[in-house]
Amino acid sequence: MTSTPDAPRKTIPILAVPGKGPAASAASMAEEEVWLYEAHQKIYPRSVSGQFARWRWALVFLTQLVFYGVPWLQWGQRQAVLFDLEARRFYIFNLVLYPQDFIYLTGILVISALSLFLFTAVAGRLWCGYACPQTVYTEIFLWLEKQVEGDRSARMRRDAGPWNADKLARKTAKHLLWLALALWTGFSFVGYFTPIQSLGQEVLQWNLGGWEVFWTLFYGLATYGNAGFLREQVCKHMCPYARFQSAMFDRDTLIVTYDEARGEPRGPRSRKADPAALQLGACVNCSLCVQVCPTGIDIRDGLQYECIGCGACADVCDTVMDKMGYARGLVKYSTQNAVQHHWTPRQLLRRVLRPRVLVYGAILGTVVLAMGVSLLLRTPFKVDVVRDRGTLARIAAGGRLENVYRLQIMNATEAGQTFHLSVDGLPGLAVASEEAVAVEATQSRWIAVRVQAPFDAAAAGSHPIHFHIDAPDLHASVSEKSVFIVPR
Ligand code: SF4
Ligand code: SF4
Repeated sequence: MTSTPDAPRKTIPILAVPGKGPAASAASMAEEEVWLYEAHQKIYPRSVSGQFARWRWALVFLTQLVFYGVPWLQWGQRQAVLFDLEARRFYIFNLVLYPQDFIYLTGILVISALSLFLFTAVAGRLWCGYACPQTVYTEIFLWLEKQVEGDRSARMRRDAGPWNADKLARKTAKHLLWLALALWTGFSFVGYFTPIQSLGQEVLQWNLGGWEVFWTLFYGLATYGNAGFLREQVCKHMCPYARFQSAMFDRDTLIVTYDEARGEPRGPRSRKADPAALQLGACVNCSLCVQVCPTGIDIRDGLQYECIGCGACADVCDTVMDKMGYARGLVKYSTQNAVQHHWTPRQLLRRVLRPRVLVYGAILGTVVLAMGVSLLLRTPFKVDVVRDRGTLARIAAGGRLENVYRLQIMNATEAGQTFHLSVDGLPGLAVASEEAVAVEATQSRWIAVRVQAPFDAAAAGSHPIHFHIDAPDLHASVSEKSVFIVPR
């Protein structure tokens, strides 16, 4: 066990010779000081190539193309995707959402959670190994580190050696590159909330607002810290998904497995040697699968919660198998059942459609369908009605009863609209103020609306009424409930 001077420590008795009776045991008790926490061992993942590494890099490019590219897309006169918190408007291509559309955000969160359940039940932690931002940025940071400092062995040698000009120059260059990428990431993140083109001009003019500086630095430095330093510790100790994903696993979930029956007993041998004659399995005990592992575990020890399913060990083991002239797949994606029962890939795939997957799939499909239909049928404007409590019900000119309301009309289209107001619920009830209201594109407007009824329209008290707001150009209308107060 590695120790550090500051780590909590404890003195424990060690029984050196067990099974010799109480007297002998007492005599052989020794004391040893042990540290309760193991110091963190830095992991130097070796770079790897292969089919799964290619998939991971494809997803790195795809996810980053989306993340860095989307804020620069334009949609008409505005940014295509913009979450304008200040104006309380969310723009997602042709959708203009108001805070009242919060239900869609809830729907997206529900769909994301169900997708994660379904995906995990089918394919284990493939999300972690291929598309999770922590994996993606760690992969990019590791690549930059390799360009500047070399691969695993060179980095380990340099870290163990003394500081000199070369080490200082390489470390400085690496951190500058990391910081540049991290700050660009922070800038892109803020670009989802502030128009990115004006944000870029503010950066060039050194004129950023306080919040923009804060969030750019916060997100950027979080990226720098997580991908540059914390790396696998985020997956092992901080990510909640790592903790609860095992509840979604079963024996038919795809995981990275070591074929113990084929690999053991492990041991080195020459390429020409016959493993059967040496009574050895296919594992040559080269430890490359451990060296490439970003979380530093040994897949030959079985399924471990630290495994993010990245397939790096499978890639490197395949290269070893190729060199040895053995069949690939000693370490591979499979399921516990498939390994135990020696299933073919076809049998394995047949187990994908098991009840748990069908239930997750059915619920997910229903929610996606409901949200799609709801978005399609969504009225392109919204109305809020508030009775003006500052103005009591009163008698207006001509002896009519009058109540005053405040209406907020939110135009969620990209064109200016004229809305027509009407009201019903009592005999002779009518809007006495302006009936046509113009609202500019993607804007909302508050207006005061006076509603009048004949003096004898109803008994004293509160009466339910309905406002109808029509948008002729949109062929849409909205009705909102309110009450009309008749004074005593
Ligand atoms: S890479 Fe393959 S052969 Fe080498 S130690 Fe790991 S499992 Fe064994
Ligand atoms: S054990 Fe293999 S699949 Fe799991 S994290 Fe390590 S390298 Fe990736």
